[in-house]
Amino acid sequence: MMGTAALVWFKRDLRVRDHAPLAQAMRCDSAVGLVVIEPQWLASPECDPRHVGFLLECVAELQRSLAERQFPLLVRIGSMPQVLHALRCEFAFTHLFSHEETGPAWTYARDLAVADWCRSQSVNWTELPQTGVVRRLRSRSGWAGRWAQRMNDPEAPSIATACGVGAAAGLKSSALPGLRELGLPALGAALPPAGERAAWATLESFLDGRGRDYRSAMSSPLSATEGCSRLSAHLAFGTISMRCVHQATEARIATTPDRNLAYALRGFASRLRWHCHFIQKLEDEPDIEQRNMARSVDGLRAGDGVHEGEIDTARLQAWCEGRTGFPMVDACMRQLRATGWLNFRMRAMLVSFAAYHLWLHWREPGLFLARQFLDFEPGIHWSQMQMQSGTTGINTLRIYSPAKQALDQDPQGHYIRQWVLEIGTASYPLPIVDERAAVTAAKDQLYGLRRTHEAHAEANAIQHKHGSRKSGLPPTTPRKRRSRASPDGQGQLF
Ligand SMILES: Cc1cc2nc3c(=O)[nH]c(=O)nc-3n(C[C@H](O)[C@H](O)[C@H](O)COP(=O)(O)OP(=O)(O)OC[C@H]3O[C@@H](n4cnc5c(N)ncnc54)[C@H](O)[C@@H]3O)c2cc1C
Repeated sequence: MMGTAALVWFKRDLRVRDHAPLAQAMRCDSAVGLVVIEPQWLASPECDPRHVGFLLECVAELQRSLAERQFPLLVRIGSMPQVLHALRCEFAFTHLFSHEETGPAWTYARDLAVADWCRSQSVNWTELPQTGVVRRLRSRSGWAGRWAQRMNDPEAPSIATACGVGAAAGLKSSALPGLRELGLPALGAALPPAGERAAWATLESFLDGRGRDYRSAMSSPLSATEGCSRLSAHLAFGTISMRCVHQATEARIATTPDRNLAYALRGFASRLRWHCHFIQKLEDEPDIEQRNMARSVDGLRAGDGVHEGEIDTARLQAWCEGRTGFPMVDACMRQLRATGWLNFRMRAMLVSFAAYHLWLHWREPGLFLARQFLDFEPGIHWSQMQMQSGTTGINTLRIYSPAKQALDQDPQGHYIRQWVLEIGTASYPLPIVDERAAVTAAKDQLYGLRRTHEAHAEANAIQHKHGSRKSGLPPTTPRKRRSRASPDGQGQLF
């Protein structure tokens, strides 16, 4: 494109491979990359220094990879429209390229401001999808087919093979700030390997055999650390694309002579679709990060915006600190705080305990967990917080018994002893609630509500808007049992 200059805005897509905005920018006369560390992100209640530390390590590697291709990557600190305005004085870009993002409300407000700025400056902003999430989706029917089509499309051309683009004159890659310069404390623990190379190494080790026991290993915290893919932080920061993970997995399923591995990988492959299925819910209904998906449960728990009472901060604090007196709950919370990761079932148990045993509304526990999860992905996170708290109106209520989970997943008590060192001593707290009474009260309240005519009507509407479909079939009614392979039916698995 004659006389064109491109700015590539890297956000949750910190990679070179399969990067459509980067590939499109190559058609311009000159191009430069940009990462912006936004004060709104640093100040947001979901952000933790470990997220920032991981991002900086990913950016450092991205900068090196782009430098090998003579492509500078600028790093700026500031709000996006202000950064763009200042940059325009250095580099008269005509085009801005980025991926679409489904993030918290502040990212949506920021995108509106960026769009305004681009219009006022006659800069052409192109946003491209990077997952199976569809913008302005009219209906969930046919969604799975569209997901498969996108995931089977060829990767975006590599910039090593793209031609013609020159680096923007005079612009050089920037030095990266440290956590301290950003006003953040040093990290207490080491982060897992960050960046595009680590993402591919993680995927390959999983496909090469680490994933063979995936289905049986995923539920126990003792085996899940090795047996799950551990790709979630890489997918959240975009150091590998969902398309690449999907295609590599399908290729391995098709070619491996190991039938056990192929069977395990088929279970993994369906979860890749779940990733986008859950993010689609936030894309379609941004309010679900703040308000109950089923409005019929409004007013049930303090902190939901309708209930007039105050949230029980003593219970919340005990849960956050892993000092509830329920050993499996406390062990899981302590592992999560120390490592930034926990397997799906134990995440669900933690939330179920907060929601039913402690009767806490999901928002505050959800913000705390968002800061702990290195893989925080708003669409999955808020959908799951609501699903495991019984506020979606459509999912089976799944109340986990911590004692049963300990028996099933840690029968010898190794895991609990690893994380709760003071177990069995006088320093370990007594149970914070009477389990039987708390669970009975929770069930009475929720089942009572679900029986109402209003709740049924609302559940049908929610299922229609957000529920998973079996391809070609109309949505099932919420009271019917859903398939074990369905992401919205997964509550039945656990
Ligand atoms: C309350 C709660 C909050 C959660 N918050 C997040 C979050 O912020 N970010 C996040 O990535 N996952 C979240 N999950 C889903 C799931 O626990 C993690 O994706 C998984 O544990 C990550 O480890 P892995 O990459 O080894 O997973 P694997 O089992 O190897 O799965 C591979 C990928 O599939 C996707 N996936 C797997 N399970 C699910 C699921 N149930 N729903 C949607 N996608 C799934 C993820 O992208 C994951 O990385 C949450 C689950 C719960 C119950």
